[in-house]
Amino acid sequence: MQLATTKFTKNDLAKYPFLKETTEYVKKLDLKIEDLANPEFAKILERAEERVEEAILYALVSRKLRNEEIETLSFPTATMLAVATENSFIKKRYALAEAKQAYNDMKLEPKEKILVIAQNFKWKLTVNNDAEIPYKFKLQFTDYLRNTTHLREKKWKLVNRLLSKGNVYLTRNEAARLLSEEVRKHVEKRLEVKELPKFPQKIMETAEKIKKLSVEKIGKTEMEGFPKTIVQTAFPPCINALYQAVSSGHHLSHIGRFALTSFLINIGMPPENVIELFKSFSDYSERMTRYQVEHIAGERGSRTRYIPPKCDTLQTHGVCTNPDELCQKVHHPLAYYRRKV
Ligand code: SF4
Repeated sequence: MQLATTKFTKNDLAKYPFLKETTEYVKKLDLKIEDLANPEFAKILERAEERVEEAILYALVSRKLRNEEIETLSFPTATMLAVATENSFIKKRYALAEAKQAYNDMKLEPKEKILVIAQNFKWKLTVNNDAEIPYKFKLQFTDYLRNTTHLREKKWKLVNRLLSKGNVYLTRNEAARLLSEEVRKHVEKRLEVKELPKFPQKIMETAEKIKKLSVEKIGKTEMEGFPKTIVQTAFPPCINALYQAVSSGHHLSHIGRFALTSFLINIGMPPENVIELFKSFSDYSERMTRYQVEHIAGERGSRTRYIPPKCDTLQTHGVCTNPDELCQKVHHPLAYYRRKV
């Protein structure tokens, strides 16, 4: 494999702004934080703001490659905007969105390009030349393990992989998916700033606008997160009833099942424990339950985590049971839980 001849183009640098080569390119431009408040850099700031907003709204960041320089420079600027929000939800969401888009792009790249991107993360990834083995790549298992710890789908478990001489075999899609984990961690690391620099007024105003948008679209409850341990006594009456029903093997309506699963996932119950809850059903199918739970948890498909329906929807479907005093003050089961804990 001729790695030396595979060079990143300007288009690649704009598409993959996490590469070392992009960082070096941006460094050479010697752009300062204060410059971004300058009208001649307005387009970069505009695009950076759009990047973070897209992450909040769609959990994805589109690619606008017509002006490669603006696209490239908008990445460090967007990172800075996310830092300026000082909001851990926005930062996490932005890192995830950049990683998801990187995955969408990388899975379409030729293997030479994937190899050089992998080199950027110091991976020991090589091409599989054995025609009998239907995989494109081989990855050293330590690199493999480092990037699969957060992935819950069974297919990533080492026991389910083809492993030979310390290498795990991967398809092109799988290599792109694991590289996107590196991208997520890389962006998250860039967002960990202990001491905030003094940002120009314009940046702070834009960061405020982004925070407002997040509260409007995502909701304060979801953004603030929940305590690490699950407090069952703080479940709202509707969820309590669903939880009791499922624990004693009673069937739930489709919406009841969705409300319970999404509620438990959002307050931090691991998908494995949620799957376990449904085991007492007479028609239990581990494959189907796993698929549904992991889909709701955002570990499959669009990788969007779903939240339970609002109280008025649950009332319409007869899932709202014995509302208590606190119910009068909230419109969402997660808001009830948050207030009670
Ligand atoms: S009002 Fe909302 S939180 Fe309370 S029981 Fe009904 S659906 Fe649940």
